[in-house]
Amino acid sequence: MTADCLFCKIINKEIPADIVYEDDRVLAFRDINPQAPIHTLLIPHKHISTINDAGTDDQNLLGHMILVAAHIAKDNGVEESGYRLVMNCNEHGGQTVFHIHLHILSGRQLTHLG
Ligand code: AMP
Ligand code: ZN
Repeated sequence: MTADCLFCKIINKEIPADIVYEDDRVLAFRDINPQAPIHTLLIPHKHISTINDAGTDDQNLLGHMILVAAHIAKDNGVEESGYRLVMNCNEHGGQTVFHIHLHILSGRQLTHLG
């Protein structure tokens, strides 16, 4: 828990969120400003500010996040139509909340990158 971190507050249930999945290590909830018909955010309980701050100790947790994201996509019935997993880092990446989170975007054709 890091004081004044929005996502730590969501984990501690101090701020409400539309939670769709939780286990002992991660929490997933609907993005408040969805960029796709189904836009979920998946965060670790552990406060890690940016992916630059993750270490080898976090390898298992980061792998778990990818697998949980695929599980959530299946739950949403979009595993065949497809989805996108995105993690933004710092200013050029467009990161606005400094507690790492995986965006799970689905439900429409997403534009090609680049
Ligand atoms: P990023 O720009 O990658 O840091 O993503 C932050 C995301 O958090 C944005 O897509 C916001 O819409 C979302 N967000 C911010 N506050 C909340 C909140 N209280 N509940 C759910 N999603 C939020
Ligand atoms: Zn946090």
